[in-house]
Amino acid sequence: MIRIAILGLGNVGTSVLNIIRNNKDIIYQKIGENFEIVGALVRDKSKHLKKEVYLASSFEEILSLKPDIIVELIGSVHPALEYIIKSLENNIPVVTANKEVLAKYPNEIFALADKKRVPIYFEAAVGGGIPIVRPLKVCLAANRIKEIMGILNGTTNYILTKLDEGFEFESALKQAQEKGYAEANPESDLSGMDALYKIAILSSVSFGILIDINELSSEGISNISLKDVLYARDLGYKIKLIARSCVKDNKYDIRVYPMLLPFSHPLASVSNNMNSILVKGDFVGSVMFYGQGAGGNPTASAVASDIMDISWHIRNSHTHRLSGNIKSKAIILKPNELFSRFYLRTIVKDNPGVLAKIAKVLADHNVSIKSMVQKTSDKGFAELVFILHQCNEQNFYKSIEDLKLVDSVKEIALTLRVYED
Ligand code: NAP
Repeated sequence: MIRIAILGLGNVGTSVLNIIRNNKDIIYQKIGENFEIVGALVRDKSKHLKKEVYLASSFEEILSLKPDIIVELIGSVHPALEYIIKSLENNIPVVTANKEVLAKYPNEIFALADKKRVPIYFEAAVGGGIPIVRPLKVCLAANRIKEIMGILNGTTNYILTKLDEGFEFESALKQAQEKGYAEANPESDLSGMDALYKIAILSSVSFGILIDINELSSEGISNISLKDVLYARDLGYKIKLIARSCVKDNKYDIRVYPMLLPFSHPLASVSNNMNSILVKGDFVGSVMFYGQGAGGNPTASAVASDIMDISWHIRNSHTHRLSGNIKSKAIILKPNELFSRFYLRTIVKDNPGVLAKIAKVLADHNVSIKSMVQKTSDKGFAELVFILHQCNEQNFYKSIEDLKLVDSVKEIALTLRVYED
Protein backbone atom coordinates (compact mmCIF):
# COMPACT_ATOMS: atom_id res chain seq x y z
CA MET A 1 0.00 0.00 0.00
CA ILE A 2 1.43 3.38 -1.01
CA ARG A 3 0.35 6.24 1.25
CA ILE A 4 -0.47 9.45 -0.58
CA ALA A 5 -1.17 12.94 0.74
CA ILE A 6 -2.65 15.58 -1.54
CA LEU A 7 -2.13 19.31 -1.03
CA GLY A 8 -5.06 21.09 -2.71
CA LEU A 9 -8.39 19.61 -3.79
CA GLY A 10 -9.37 22.05 -6.53
CA ASN A 11 -9.88 21.18 -10.20
CA VAL A 12 -6.84 18.94 -10.43
CA GLY A 13 -6.76 17.62 -6.84
CA THR A 14 -10.38 16.44 -7.06
CA SER A 15 -9.72 14.73 -10.40
CA VAL A 16 -6.66 13.03 -8.89
CA LEU A 17 -8.91 11.60 -6.15
CA ASN A 18 -11.29 10.40 -8.86
CA ILE A 19 -8.72 8.76 -11.12
CA ILE A 20 -7.11 6.95 -8.17
CA ARG A 21 -10.50 5.68 -7.00
CA ASN A 22 -12.13 4.96 -10.39
CA ASN A 23 -9.08 3.31 -11.98
CA LYS A 24 -7.90 1.41 -8.92
CA ASP A 25 -7.95 -1.89 -10.87
CA ILE A 26 -5.89 -0.55 -13.78
CA ILE A 27 -3.39 0.99 -11.39
CA TYR A 28 -3.01 -2.26 -9.43
CA GLN A 29 -2.69 -4.26 -12.64
CA LYS A 30 0.15 -2.03 -13.86
CA ILE A 31 2.21 -1.57 -10.69
CA GLY A 32 1.00 -4.23 -8.28
CA GLU A 33 0.20 -1.67 -5.59
CA ASN A 34 -2.85 0.02 -4.12
CA PHE A 35 -2.93 3.66 -3.17
CA GLU A 36 -4.31 4.94 0.10
CA ILE A 37 -5.11 8.64 0.27
CA VAL A 38 -4.10 9.31 3.87
CA GLY A 39 -5.08 12.96 3.92
CA ALA A 40 -5.52 16.20 2.05
CA LEU A 41 -4.78 19.82 2.86
CA VAL A 42 -7.11 22.63 1.75
CA ARG A 43 -7.84 26.20 2.83
CA ASP A 44 -11.54 25.80 3.54
CA LYS A 45 -12.49 22.33 4.82
CA SER A 46 -16.23 23.06 4.59
CA LYS A 47 -16.05 22.97 0.75
CA HIS A 48 -14.65 19.43 0.70
CA LEU A 49 -16.65 17.49 3.32
CA LYS A 50 -18.30 15.21 0.73
CA LYS A 51 -15.04 14.03 -0.80
CA GLU A 52 -14.58 11.19 1.68
CA VAL A 53 -10.99 12.02 2.43
CA TYR A 54 -9.39 12.96 5.74
CA LEU A 55 -8.84 16.74 5.79
CA ALA A 56 -5.72 17.73 7.69
CA SER A 57 -5.44 21.04 9.50
CA SER A 58 -1.83 21.89 8.67
CA PHE A 59 1.14 20.77 6.63
CA GLU A 60 2.74 19.51 9.83
CA GLU A 61 -0.26 17.24 10.29
CA ILE A 62 0.19 15.99 6.71
CA LEU A 63 3.79 15.06 7.60
CA SER A 64 2.58 13.29 10.75
CA LEU A 65 0.42 11.02 8.55
CA LYS A 66 3.69 9.55 7.20
CA PRO A 67 2.87 9.67 3.48
CA ASP A 68 5.12 7.89 0.97
CA ILE A 69 4.38 10.56 -1.65
CA ILE A 70 3.17 14.17 -1.35
CA VAL A 71 1.21 15.57 -4.30
CA GLU A 72 1.32 19.38 -4.46
CA LEU A 73 -1.73 20.80 -6.29
CA ILE A 74 -2.12 24.16 -4.58
CA GLY A 75 -0.55 26.23 -7.32
CA SER A 76 1.26 29.58 -7.36
CA VAL A 77 4.43 30.10 -5.26
CA HIS A 78 3.56 30.38 -1.55
CA PRO A 79 3.07 28.17 0.38
CA ALA A 80 3.57 25.59 -2.41
CA LEU A 81 7.35 26.22 -2.47
CA GLU A 82 7.73 25.82 1.29
CA TYR A 83 5.66 22.62 1.28
CA ILE A 84 7.69 21.11 -1.59
CA ILE A 85 10.93 21.98 0.18
CA LYS A 86 9.74 20.57 3.52
CA SER A 87 8.60 17.36 1.80
CA LEU A 88 11.99 16.87 0.14
CA GLU A 89 13.81 17.72 3.38
CA ASN A 90 11.75 14.98 5.03
CA ASN A 91 12.82 12.53 2.28
CA ILE A 92 9.29 12.33 0.85
CA PRO A 93 9.01 12.16 -2.97
CA VAL A 94 6.93 14.96 -4.51
CA VAL A 95 4.61 15.11 -7.50
CA THR A 96 3.57 18.59 -8.61
CA ALA A 97 1.64 20.22 -11.46
CA ASN A 98 2.96 23.65 -10.50
CA LYS A 99 4.80 25.24 -13.46
CA GLU A 100 5.17 28.62 -11.76
CA VAL A 101 7.06 27.39 -8.71
CA LEU A 102 9.30 25.11 -10.80
CA ALA A 103 10.12 27.86 -13.31
CA LYS A 104 10.80 30.49 -10.64
CA TYR A 105 12.71 28.36 -8.12
CA PRO A 106 14.43 25.58 -10.10
CA ASN A 107 17.66 25.86 -8.18
CA GLU A 108 16.10 25.66 -4.72
CA ILE A 109 13.90 22.70 -5.69
CA PHE A 110 16.06 20.58 -8.00
CA ALA A 111 19.34 21.09 -6.14
CA LEU A 112 17.67 20.03 -2.89
CA ALA A 113 15.99 17.02 -4.55
CA ASP A 114 19.31 15.88 -5.98
CA LYS A 115 21.18 16.53 -2.73
CA LYS A 116 18.65 14.52 -0.75
CA ARG A 117 18.32 11.95 -3.57
CA VAL A 118 14.54 12.30 -3.36
CA PRO A 119 12.58 12.54 -6.63
CA ILE A 120 10.30 15.35 -7.74
CA TYR A 121 8.08 14.52 -10.73
CA PHE A 122 6.22 17.16 -12.71
CA GLU A 123 4.71 15.67 -15.89
CA ALA A 124 1.51 17.69 -15.35
CA ALA A 125 3.30 21.04 -15.09
CA VAL A 126 3.60 21.31 -18.89
CA GLY A 127 0.92 20.40 -21.40
CA GLY A 128 -1.66 19.10 -18.86
CA GLY A 129 -2.52 15.61 -20.06
CA ILE A 130 0.04 15.54 -22.89
CA PRO A 131 3.02 13.34 -22.08
CA ILE A 132 6.01 15.58 -22.76
CA VAL A 133 8.31 15.75 -19.73
CA ARG A 134 8.89 11.98 -19.55
CA PRO A 135 9.34 11.65 -23.36
CA LEU A 136 11.99 14.38 -23.24
CA LYS A 137 13.68 12.93 -20.16
CA VAL A 138 13.51 9.28 -21.17
CA CYS A 139 12.36 8.44 -24.71
CA LEU A 140 14.36 11.16 -26.48
CA ALA A 141 17.23 11.20 -23.99
CA ALA A 142 19.84 9.99 -26.46
CA ASN A 143 19.16 12.85 -28.86
CA ARG A 144 20.78 16.23 -29.04
CA ILE A 145 17.60 18.32 -28.91
CA LYS A 146 17.78 21.11 -31.48
CA GLU A 147 14.48 22.87 -31.01
CA ILE A 148 11.24 22.76 -29.02
CA MET A 149 8.36 24.76 -30.44
CA GLY A 150 4.86 24.60 -29.07
CA ILE A 151 1.44 25.97 -28.38
CA LEU A 152 1.49 25.65 -24.60
CA ASN A 153 -1.44 27.81 -23.54
CA GLY A 154 -4.99 26.72 -24.32
CA THR A 155 -6.64 30.02 -23.35
CA THR A 156 -4.72 32.11 -25.86
CA ASN A 157 -5.02 29.44 -28.55
CA TYR A 158 -8.78 29.46 -28.03
CA ILE A 159 -8.91 33.27 -28.29
CA LEU A 160 -6.81 33.26 -31.49
CA THR A 161 -9.08 30.56 -32.95
CA LYS A 162 -12.12 32.73 -32.20
CA LEU A 163 -10.44 35.73 -33.90
CA ASP A 164 -9.88 33.47 -36.89
CA GLU A 165 -13.62 32.73 -36.86
CA GLY A 166 -14.34 36.47 -37.09
CA PHE A 167 -14.87 37.53 -33.45
CA GLU A 168 -13.26 40.68 -32.00
CA PHE A 169 -10.71 40.21 -29.19
CA GLU A 170 -12.99 41.23 -26.29
CA SER A 171 -15.72 38.85 -27.43
CA ALA A 172 -13.19 36.02 -27.91
CA LEU A 173 -11.84 36.56 -24.38
CA LYS A 174 -15.36 36.59 -22.94
CA GLN A 175 -16.14 33.29 -24.67
CA ALA A 176 -12.92 31.78 -23.25
CA GLN A 177 -13.98 32.88 -19.76
CA GLU A 178 -17.51 31.51 -20.21
CA LYS A 179 -16.09 28.14 -21.26
CA GLY A 180 -13.85 28.10 -18.17
CA TYR A 181 -10.66 28.24 -20.28
CA ALA A 182 -9.64 31.69 -19.04
CA GLU A 183 -9.28 32.83 -15.43
CA ALA A 184 -11.23 35.84 -14.16
CA ASN A 185 -7.81 37.54 -14.27
CA PRO A 186 -6.32 36.15 -17.50
CA GLU A 187 -3.10 38.21 -17.32
CA SER A 188 -0.68 35.28 -16.94
CA ASP A 189 -2.16 33.61 -20.05
CA LEU A 190 -2.54 36.72 -22.22
CA SER A 191 0.95 38.06 -21.43
CA GLY A 192 2.58 34.76 -22.42
CA MET A 193 3.97 34.21 -18.88
CA ASP A 194 2.14 30.91 -18.39
CA ALA A 195 3.68 29.57 -21.61
CA LEU A 196 7.08 31.01 -20.64
CA TYR A 197 7.12 29.02 -17.37
CA LYS A 198 6.37 25.88 -19.38
CA ILE A 199 8.97 26.39 -22.10
CA ALA A 200 11.55 27.19 -19.40
CA ILE A 201 10.79 23.83 -17.73
CA LEU A 202 10.97 21.90 -21.03
CA SER A 203 14.24 23.64 -21.93
CA SER A 204 15.74 22.79 -18.58
CA VAL A 205 14.78 19.12 -18.99
CA SER A 206 15.94 18.90 -22.62
CA PHE A 207 19.17 20.84 -22.47
CA GLY A 208 20.21 20.15 -18.88
CA ILE A 209 20.39 23.86 -18.10
CA LEU A 210 19.46 26.00 -15.14
CA ILE A 211 17.34 28.93 -16.30
CA ASP A 212 16.79 32.28 -14.63
CA ILE A 213 13.22 33.06 -15.68
CA ASN A 214 13.93 36.79 -15.26
CA GLU A 215 16.36 36.62 -18.20
CA LEU A 216 13.63 35.35 -20.55
CA SER A 217 11.02 37.45 -22.30
CA SER A 218 7.46 36.89 -23.38
CA GLU A 219 5.14 38.84 -25.62
CA GLY A 220 1.41 38.27 -25.32
CA ILE A 221 -1.58 38.49 -27.61
CA SER A 222 -3.51 41.43 -26.11
CA ASN A 223 -2.73 43.82 -28.97
CA ILE A 224 -3.63 41.39 -31.78
CA SER A 225 -6.82 42.39 -33.52
CA LEU A 226 -9.26 40.58 -35.76
CA LYS A 227 -7.82 42.71 -38.55
CA ASP A 228 -4.32 41.23 -38.10
CA VAL A 229 -5.65 37.68 -38.08
CA LEU A 230 -7.52 38.36 -41.35
CA TYR A 231 -4.55 40.10 -42.98
CA ALA A 232 -2.28 37.22 -41.94
CA ARG A 233 -4.75 34.77 -43.43
CA ASP A 234 -4.77 36.69 -46.74
CA LEU A 235 -0.99 36.38 -46.78
CA GLY A 236 -1.14 32.60 -46.15
CA TYR A 237 -0.51 32.54 -42.38
CA LYS A 238 -2.20 31.79 -39.06
CA ILE A 239 -1.26 33.75 -35.94
CA LYS A 240 -0.35 31.48 -33.00
CA LEU A 241 1.18 32.16 -29.58
CA ILE A 242 4.41 30.20 -29.87
CA ALA A 243 6.75 29.09 -27.10
CA ARG A 244 10.11 28.33 -28.62
CA SER A 245 13.46 27.17 -27.40
CA CYS A 246 16.57 26.52 -29.43
CA VAL A 247 20.28 26.38 -28.95
CA LYS A 248 22.96 28.09 -31.02
CA ASP A 249 26.66 27.79 -30.15
CA ASN A 250 25.81 26.77 -26.57
CA LYS A 251 23.59 29.83 -26.11
CA TYR A 252 19.84 29.64 -25.80
CA ASP A 253 16.91 31.45 -27.35
CA ILE A 254 13.92 30.71 -25.09
CA ARG A 255 10.95 32.96 -25.67
CA VAL A 256 7.20 33.26 -26.11
CA TYR A 257 5.69 35.46 -28.81
CA PRO A 258 2.79 35.54 -31.24
CA MET A 259 3.97 34.41 -34.65
CA LEU A 260 2.68 34.10 -38.20
CA LEU A 261 2.90 30.43 -39.17
CA PRO A 262 2.39 29.32 -42.78
CA PHE A 263 -0.78 27.22 -43.20
CA SER A 264 1.43 24.20 -43.95
CA HIS A 265 3.19 24.35 -40.55
CA PRO A 266 1.97 21.48 -38.30
CA LEU A 267 1.20 23.86 -35.41
CA ALA A 268 -0.96 26.12 -37.64
CA SER A 269 -3.84 23.65 -37.54
CA VAL A 270 -3.87 23.29 -33.72
CA SER A 271 -7.07 25.09 -32.77
CA ASN A 272 -9.43 25.88 -29.89
CA ASN A 273 -7.97 25.12 -26.46
CA MET A 274 -5.68 22.33 -27.66
CA ASN A 275 -1.93 22.30 -27.04
CA SER A 276 0.81 20.83 -29.17
CA ILE A 277 4.57 20.53 -28.96
CA LEU A 278 7.01 19.85 -31.76
CA VAL A 279 10.44 18.55 -30.78
CA LYS A 280 13.40 18.24 -33.12
CA GLY A 281 16.20 15.85 -32.18
CA ASP A 282 19.32 15.06 -34.15
CA PHE A 283 18.53 11.35 -34.54
CA VAL A 284 14.76 11.12 -34.07
CA GLY A 285 13.97 14.03 -36.43
CA SER A 286 10.68 15.79 -35.69
CA VAL A 287 8.14 14.41 -33.23
CA MET A 288 4.88 16.07 -32.34
CA PHE A 289 2.69 15.81 -29.24
CA TYR A 290 -0.94 16.95 -29.19
CA GLY A 291 -3.78 16.98 -26.67
CA GLN A 292 -5.61 18.70 -23.83
CA GLY A 293 -3.13 21.09 -22.24
CA ALA A 294 -5.33 21.77 -19.20
CA GLY A 295 -8.46 20.66 -17.39
CA GLY A 296 -8.82 18.65 -14.18
CA ASN A 297 -9.08 15.18 -15.74
CA PRO A 298 -6.30 15.42 -18.36
CA THR A 299 -3.98 16.96 -15.78
CA ALA A 300 -4.87 14.29 -13.20
CA SER A 301 -3.94 11.65 -15.79
CA ALA A 302 -0.39 13.05 -15.82
CA VAL A 303 -0.26 13.44 -12.02
CA ALA A 304 -1.41 9.83 -11.52
CA SER A 305 1.23 8.55 -13.95
CA ASP A 306 3.92 10.26 -11.85
CA ILE A 307 2.51 8.78 -8.65
CA MET A 308 2.56 5.34 -10.28
CA ASP A 309 6.11 5.77 -11.53
CA ILE A 310 7.38 6.73 -8.07
CA SER A 311 5.35 3.90 -6.49
CA TRP A 312 6.90 1.38 -8.88
CA HIS A 313 10.35 2.44 -7.71
CA ILE A 314 9.30 2.36 -4.04
CA ARG A 315 7.81 -1.12 -4.46
CA ASN A 316 10.88 -2.47 -6.18
CA SER A 317 13.36 -0.67 -3.92
CA HIS A 318 14.87 1.01 -6.96
CA THR A 319 16.88 4.17 -6.93
CA HIS A 320 14.59 6.90 -8.22
CA ARG A 321 15.22 8.74 -11.43
CA LEU A 322 16.41 12.07 -10.05
CA SER A 323 15.40 15.46 -11.36
CA GLY A 324 18.52 16.51 -12.66
CA ASN A 325 20.96 16.32 -15.27
CA ILE A 326 21.18 20.09 -14.80
CA LYS A 327 24.77 20.82 -15.67
CA SER A 328 25.14 24.54 -16.20
CA LYS A 329 23.46 27.92 -16.08
CA ALA A 330 21.94 28.84 -19.44
CA ILE A 331 23.46 31.72 -21.39
CA ILE A 332 20.56 33.48 -23.09
CA LEU A 333 21.04 35.06 -26.54
CA LYS A 334 20.72 38.85 -26.62
CA PRO A 335 18.57 40.82 -29.14
CA ASN A 336 21.65 41.72 -31.21
CA GLU A 337 22.33 37.98 -31.62
CA LEU A 338 18.79 37.09 -32.76
CA PHE A 339 17.38 37.07 -36.29
CA SER A 340 13.75 36.95 -37.39
CA ARG A 341 11.37 37.76 -40.18
CA PHE A 342 8.68 40.30 -39.30
CA TYR A 343 5.12 41.34 -40.12
CA LEU A 344 4.68 45.11 -39.80
CA ARG A 345 1.35 46.95 -39.95
CA THR A 346 1.53 50.72 -40.22
CA ILE A 347 -1.00 53.51 -40.65
CA VAL A 348 0.35 56.28 -42.85
CA LYS A 349 -0.75 59.49 -44.55
CA ASP A 350 -2.03 58.55 -47.99
CA ASN A 351 0.55 60.73 -49.78
CA PRO A 352 2.91 60.00 -52.63
CA GLY A 353 6.44 59.06 -51.50
CA VAL A 354 5.48 57.53 -48.13
CA LEU A 355 6.49 54.06 -49.17
CA ALA A 356 9.90 55.27 -50.31
CA LYS A 357 10.45 56.98 -46.94
CA ILE A 358 9.56 53.80 -45.05
CA ALA A 359 11.76 51.64 -47.29
CA LYS A 360 14.69 54.04 -46.73
CA VAL A 361 14.38 53.98 -42.91
CA LEU A 362 14.23 50.18 -42.96
CA ALA A 363 17.17 49.94 -45.39
CA ASP A 364 19.23 52.27 -43.16
CA HIS A 365 19.01 49.51 -40.54
CA ASN A 366 19.67 46.65 -42.97
CA VAL A 367 16.01 45.62 -43.00
CA SER A 368 14.52 44.81 -46.39
CA ILE A 369 10.94 44.39 -47.57
CA LYS A 370 9.81 41.03 -48.94
CA SER A 371 6.25 42.05 -49.78
CA MET A 372 3.78 44.85 -49.07
CA VAL A 373 0.04 45.26 -49.43
CA GLN A 374 -2.08 48.39 -49.01
CA LYS A 375 -5.14 47.33 -47.06
CA THR A 376 -7.53 50.23 -46.56
CA SER A 377 -7.63 53.91 -47.24
CA ASP A 378 -9.71 56.10 -44.99
CA LYS A 379 -9.91 59.88 -44.36
CA GLY A 380 -6.52 60.50 -45.94
CA PHE A 381 -4.83 57.55 -44.21
CA ALA A 382 -3.74 54.22 -45.63
CA GLU A 383 -2.84 50.97 -43.93
CA LEU A 384 0.32 49.32 -45.19
CA VAL A 385 1.17 45.75 -44.24
CA PHE A 386 4.72 44.54 -44.83
CA ILE A 387 6.39 41.16 -44.62
CA LEU A 388 10.10 41.73 -44.09
CA HIS A 389 13.08 39.55 -44.92
CA GLN A 390 14.99 37.99 -42.07
CA CYS A 391 16.91 40.65 -40.15
CA ASN A 392 18.73 41.28 -36.91
CA GLU A 393 16.10 41.88 -34.22
CA GLN A 394 17.95 44.79 -32.65
CA ASN A 395 18.21 46.51 -36.04
CA PHE A 396 14.52 45.91 -36.63
CA TYR A 397 13.47 47.56 -33.36
CA LYS A 398 15.78 50.53 -34.03
CA SER A 399 14.14 50.94 -37.44
CA ILE A 400 10.73 50.94 -35.75
CA GLU A 401 11.83 53.74 -33.41
CA ASP A 402 13.02 55.75 -36.44
CA LEU A 403 9.82 55.04 -38.38
CA LYS A 404 7.83 56.61 -35.54
CA LEU A 405 9.69 59.86 -36.27
CA VAL A 406 8.69 59.94 -39.96
CA ASP A 407 6.00 62.63 -40.30
CA SER A 408 3.89 60.61 -42.76
CA VAL A 409 3.76 57.61 -40.39
CA LYS A 410 0.77 58.04 -38.11
CA GLU A 411 1.12 54.77 -36.22
CA ILE A 412 3.11 51.58 -36.01
CA ALA A 413 0.03 49.45 -35.38
CA LEU A 414 1.65 46.04 -34.82
CA THR A 415 4.81 44.07 -35.34
CA LEU A 416 4.87 40.26 -35.20
CA ARG A 417 7.45 37.63 -36.02
CA VAL A 418 6.98 35.43 -39.09
CA TYR A 419 8.07 31.78 -39.06
CA GLU A 420 11.23 30.94 -40.92
CA ASP A 421 12.55 27.38 -40.95
P1 NAP B 1 -7.52 25.29 -7.87
O1 NAP B 1 -8.73 24.73 -8.51
O2 NAP B 1 -7.45 26.76 -7.63
O3 NAP B 1 -7.29 24.52 -6.49
C1 NAP B 1 -6.32 24.89 -5.57
C2 NAP B 1 -6.50 24.06 -4.29
O4 NAP B 1 -5.46 24.42 -3.40
C3 NAP B 1 -7.83 24.34 -3.58
O5 NAP B 1 -8.36 23.13 -3.07
C4 NAP B 1 -7.42 25.25 -2.42
O6 NAP B 1 -8.16 25.08 -1.24
C5 NAP B 1 -6.01 24.76 -2.14
N1 NAP B 1 -5.20 25.81 -1.53
C6 NAP B 1 -4.94 27.05 -2.00
N2 NAP B 1 -4.14 27.72 -1.15
C7 NAP B 1 -3.89 26.88 -0.13
C8 NAP B 1 -3.14 26.98 1.06
N3 NAP B 1 -2.50 28.11 1.38
N4 NAP B 1 -3.11 25.93 1.90
C9 NAP B 1 -3.80 24.79 1.60
N5 NAP B 1 -4.53 24.62 0.49
C10 NAP B 1 -4.57 25.66 -0.37
O7 NAP B 1 -6.21 24.93 -8.72
P2 NAP B 1 -6.09 23.82 -9.85
O8 NAP B 1 -6.68 24.34 -11.11
O9 NAP B 1 -6.53 22.51 -9.34
O10 NAP B 1 -4.50 23.82 -10.08
C11 NAP B 1 -3.64 23.16 -9.17
C12 NAP B 1 -2.23 23.14 -9.78
O11 NAP B 1 -2.26 22.43 -11.02
C13 NAP B 1 -1.65 24.51 -10.11
O12 NAP B 1 -0.27 24.50 -9.89
C14 NAP B 1 -1.93 24.67 -11.59
O13 NAP B 1 -1.03 25.54 -12.24
C15 NAP B 1 -1.71 23.24 -12.03
N6 NAP B 1 -2.39 22.92 -13.29
C16 NAP B 1 -3.72 23.14 -13.40
C17 NAP B 1 -4.35 22.82 -14.58
C18 NAP B 1 -5.83 23.04 -14.74
O14 NAP B 1 -6.35 22.79 -15.82
N7 NAP B 1 -6.55 23.46 -13.73
C19 NAP B 1 -3.61 22.30 -15.67
C20 NAP B 1 -2.24 22.05 -15.51
C21 NAP B 1 -1.63 22.37 -14.30
P3 NAP B 1 -9.72 25.49 -1.15
O15 NAP B 1 -10.44 24.51 -2.07
O16 NAP B 1 -10.07 25.25 0.27
O17 NAP B 1 -9.83 26.90 -1.60
